[in-house]
Amino acid sequence: MTHTRTTRLERGRSALGPALELVHTGQAPTRAVLTAELGVTRATAGAVAGELEALGLITVDAHPTAPVGSQGRPSHRLSVDPDGPVALAAQVHADGYRAALVGLGGNLVATAPGCGTVDADPAQVISEVVRTGAGLLRESGRRCVGAGLAVPSAVAEPEGTALNPLHLAWQAGAPVRDTFRACLAEAGVTHPDGSPVTGFAANDLNVAALAEHRHGAGRGARHLLVVGTGHHGVGGALVLDGRLHTGSSGLAMEVGHLTVDPGGRPCHCGSRGCLDVETDPAALLAAAGREA
Ligand SMILES: [Zn+2]
Repeated sequence: MTHTRTTRLERGRSALGPALELVHTGQAPTRAVLTAELGVTRATAGAVAGELEALGLITVDAHPTAPVGSQGRPSHRLSVDPDGPVALAAQVHADGYRAALVGLGGNLVATAPGCGTVDADPAQVISEVVRTGAGLLRESGRRCVGAGLAVPSAVAEPEGTALNPLHLAWQAGAPVRDTFRACLAEAGVTHPDGSPVTGFAANDLNVAALAEHRHGAGRGARHLLVVGTGHHGVGGALVLDGRLHTGSSGLAMEVGHLTVDPGGRPCHCGSRGCLDVETDPAALLAAAGREA
């Protein structure tokens, strides 16, 4: 009996991460689905769900109302805990920044924008967006488990440097990830035990593609192509077999600099007629005879 219980707990423990991911991404709305997806017994799935609930990550509704016309007892309903931990999401764009707190399930908890000209020194805007995010954390009283920074530039891996920040005055090769981590430490964004929260930095379209693939338009798709524009320029990202395709050094999918009109406008990259300058919001406004 003790042996069975120990084994169940061990199996359950290794299933905690996958189980949270299934609930967090909406793939396991009930305990019955969780049981099937994890390939474990009902008892193990029950123990796993109970543990995630005790950790303040999910809620388990043991008495859900059955849909009209359905037969039998409805399975326990699983949802992410609306008061669970959050990630600090920071974005720097050509016209300023945005800080946000994002909870499990991709739920936006709080957000605050900042407008203005982005300084040539990346530390200026990065420390500003981190301080804004730290303020949101203090106001909400939520536990922060990680932080991410999105920048309008390819980010080289493993160095974490912004390689081609064409729409900002930053120098190519700016160490954005290290700057972000230093700003997080300075702003006191830590785990409850005081240890530093891990900070990641990535290209804005790459992280947008991951978000769409997990929680948005690309949910359930094996492959996903994202071409997007926000403030200036056009970027692209590709999810292949559920993983972000970044190439050998993180620079794949710079679709913005494909030539669409060889005789077109000069581009910041030195080329001419790139998708980036031919179709970005400024180009569309100019074509419509409107001021940006
Ligand atoms: Zn270009």
